[in-house]
Amino acid sequence: MVIRRIAFLSMHTSPLGNPGSGDAGGLNVYVRGLALAMLGEGIEVDVYTRRTNDADPDVIEVVEGCRVHHIAAGPAAPLSIADQIPWTRTFAERVIERLRNEPTVDLVHSHYWLSGWVGALAKRALGLPHVISFHTLGRVKEINRRHDDQPEPLVRIVTETEVISEADCIIASTSDEADDLLLHYGARPESLCITPPGVDRTRFSPGPPRVARGRIGVDGDAPLVLFIGRIQPLKGLDVALEAFALIANQSLDVRMLVVGGASGSSGESERRRARSYAEQHHLPVDFRGPVPHADTVDYYRAADVIMMPSRSESFGLVAVEAQSCGLPVVAADVGGLAHVIEDDVSGILVKGWAPEDHAAAVTRVLSDEDLASRLSQGAREWSEQFDWKVSVDRFLELYEGAVG
Ligand code: UDP
Repeated sequence: MVIRRIAFLSMHTSPLGNPGSGDAGGLNVYVRGLALAMLGEGIEVDVYTRRTNDADPDVIEVVEGCRVHHIAAGPAAPLSIADQIPWTRTFAERVIERLRNEPTVDLVHSHYWLSGWVGALAKRALGLPHVISFHTLGRVKEINRRHDDQPEPLVRIVTETEVISEADCIIASTSDEADDLLLHYGARPESLCITPPGVDRTRFSPGPPRVARGRIGVDGDAPLVLFIGRIQPLKGLDVALEAFALIANQSLDVRMLVVGGASGSSGESERRRARSYAEQHHLPVDFRGPVPHADTVDYYRAADVIMMPSRSESFGLVAVEAQSCGLPVVAADVGGLAHVIEDDVSGILVKGWAPEDHAAAVTRVLSDEDLASRLSQGAREWSEQFDWKVSVDRFLELYEGAVG
């Protein structure tokens, strides 16, 4: 069957939002990238998200063939995930009503567990095929949660289990995520598809570091360590800073940039903790806050190495974007990162979260020019597989399978 129109459900965060803080991150970038890739194939996309501002128009046509619908459900203001839970049913009812009255969509692709719940209800009400990408899984986050981080709500685990049992197709970004779905949720193997997202490699490409440094206001040639991500315990900024303190102790001339803002219920305390750690240890760390997605490329080009000591990561778009720019990644050997990075080829995978181990890997890259240039070249080559131009066919195939 030829697919003409798809509904994407992204209740808790709008694809029009700026990634890098709050609930906006890789999911937003993924939804945008996939929507554009589908448009390129002549398929129209309607994205449904919760209205967070009274001034939001009912529907925005972002580009021809791609619309974002703002659905009223609860206060027209940003809400935490926990505060959105009670509004999910209202959101679902209104989306279903709109889907009933709009030109027919061929399938629903939901993103994250809240929208998965909505997708399951839409499938029950309208008989539409339901494809879901979870992006993160509650049980996996629980296993990797730092002891002082907030636990995941039970309703998330229960809902995920139900959605998984009913969905037509569950998209895992890596085989690790597929294993988690099988092991922790008893997913039916025939409903699982493994398909990584991509990045726009024409945008995320290598460029002269000096020009990039000029654009982001970094003077001189001193080695630059980068961290990009939403600030919350799972991202391991605490590990990155402790490791950087060890590196800075050995070398006077090294700097670090932290890009991203607080996210989630522990985000603000984590951000304060990180800043006070850097101050107390007199570290040359510049906290830049969230930057627009289009500007991140300058940070990747300006840096010598990027750290991703995440405690859990279902994929890790930052690692792909960095490698696509030829920037070696030093990352924890966990979840998606172990798939997105090829150890000793495109970066270095570190077992565990001991700051000394992450510091040792970063020091190797900064002090060995041959290694740095081999990893940079390897990063660019290895990341070729993560390109929307490559992924789009696979997504089309699995959409056709779900509809069929
Ligand atoms: N990002 C951004 N601005 C920031 C910080 C991050 O645009 O200040 C983007 C980053 O370039 C990447 C996404 O947010 O595309 C983060 O995706 P990732 O998969 O690494 O993490 P997630 O947010 O999904 O946990």
